[in-house]
Amino acid sequence: MGFLERIFREPRWGVHPDDRKRPAADAPLRKLPPPARVYMPLQQHVGGAARPIVLAGQKVLKGQLIAEASGNISAPIHAPVSGIVAAIGDVTAPHASGLPFAAITLASDFEERWVEGEEISDPFSLAPEEVARRTAAAGIVGLGGATFPAAAKFALGRRLKVDTLIVNGGECEPYLSADDRIMRDRPDEVVDGVRIVMHAIGARQALVGIEDNKPEAIAAMRVAAAAFPEVNIRPVPARYPMGSDRQLIITLTGREVPADARAAEVGVLVHNVSTCAAVHRAVRFGRPLVERIVTVNGGAVTRPGNVFAPIGTLVQELLDFCGLDEAPARIVMGGPMMGTPLAHGQVPLVKGASGILAFDAREAHVPPAGPCIRCGNCTRACPMGLQPLELGARVRAGDLDGAAKLHLGDCMSCGCCAYVCPSHIPLVQYFNHAKGELWAKERAKLRTEATKRLAAARLERVEREAREKAEAAARRKAERAAAKARTAAEAQAGAESGAAPPAQSQHEGETA
Ligand code: SF4
Ligand code: SF4
Repeated sequence: MGFLERIFREPRWGVHPDDRKRPAADAPLRKLPPPARVYMPLQQHVGGAARPIVLAGQKVLKGQLIAEASGNISAPIHAPVSGIVAAIGDVTAPHASGLPFAAITLASDFEERWVEGEEISDPFSLAPEEVARRTAAAGIVGLGGATFPAAAKFALGRRLKVDTLIVNGGECEPYLSADDRIMRDRPDEVVDGVRIVMHAIGARQALVGIEDNKPEAIAAMRVAAAAFPEVNIRPVPARYPMGSDRQLIITLTGREVPADARAAEVGVLVHNVSTCAAVHRAVRFGRPLVERIVTVNGGAVTRPGNVFAPIGTLVQELLDFCGLDEAPARIVMGGPMMGTPLAHGQVPLVKGASGILAFDAREAHVPPAGPCIRCGNCTRACPMGLQPLELGARVRAGDLDGAAKLHLGDCMSCGCCAYVCPSHIPLVQYFNHAKGELWAKERAKLRTEATKRLAAARLERVEREAREKAEAAARRKAERAAAKARTAAEAQAGAESGAAPPAQSQHEGETA
């Protein structure tokens, strides 16, 4: 790319951190042997938690359904190893809180016996609804970290008639290279998955956005897509957060997604490259989502790289597999900008986790925060066009409603503002805290309104029942009175008509 072209193409938002992807990105993919135990959380996706359908002590095959989806926005869970159900109960969540959450624990028999999958040679002969059904049954969710059930997105795409599938190969967070690796090692699977997703949603074209710091992935994907003109491989400038849906959409299509709208409303749908590869395996081979590629990286790791591992593997086992030079000063699940800090490594790998980072003391060091010098760096860096310094000031002053008026709700917690802040103000922490408070307030408001609605409905029901009861009683009373009046009238009529004949007959008798 020429100098001028670069200047015009270079986005004006975001930041350009040292990507630290190599040497991990260049190391050959390794496969983790089946662990002795895996822990499958029932909530690994956006939506309702899955419902267990197995019992402790039951034997299972690899890929067997062990928990079913609980509604349209949910995803089933399958066994990542063959073996036995060891327990159903709480394990530590992959979250900074370290709180427990429900999971199914499986003890491996190390035999890797797969459940039989339904294979199909021509997925394009299937109805789009059948492609969606197979994708949903395989428990596929957004593997870039969003974890939204993929098939639910297909339905949205068909309903809103999207014309373009955007395939996210951006992987803009530093240290991560799981998507890079799948595009280099399995480009045919990715491209086939892209075409299957296009078929499922009815898109005319696919634009695969890959950051230009991944030349090997771009080359491999171009070869794999050469025979399919509807699949376009598009290098995009390496800039964080290029991998966010809105940024990738506007970069590739020029279409802007309004803050309160969904991508499908501007005619596009976004799926990650790893999600597309998972759709390929699910639809063509009936293989559910039980394994994934995860980057293990960071200054404390001896052999950083990408590992093909069963979902549910303990983070500590992944770190031990790659080796540790020292005890990590901080462990993060996901990327360093938007990932989840972990209290320890005794938590399971989940479907949406593309990286496990073990930082050394230097990487984990956070300088103390100073006062805001109003340099404006944060405002220039914000990809959502927000004013982080003003937002930060409102949140610090406890004026959450003021922050909401400045569109705090549009903040995607990308961390660009904090990254460029010379005073090291933990802006994202402020914003996440404030969003949590506002969300809790909104939920409390909704709960209060729901309670009020219920109370009003109850009062109305009680009044209606009392009214109906009174009306029924009045009706019965009126009916009784009417019946009484009728009886009296009949009796009267009977008496009148009954008294005359005897008198007449008597008279007649007398006459006779
Ligand atoms: S970057 Fe930091 S110091 Fe500069 S204006 Fe924003 S909050 Fe203030
Ligand atoms: S974290 Fe929020 S406010 Fe800060 S740059 Fe990202 S979107 Fe903007």
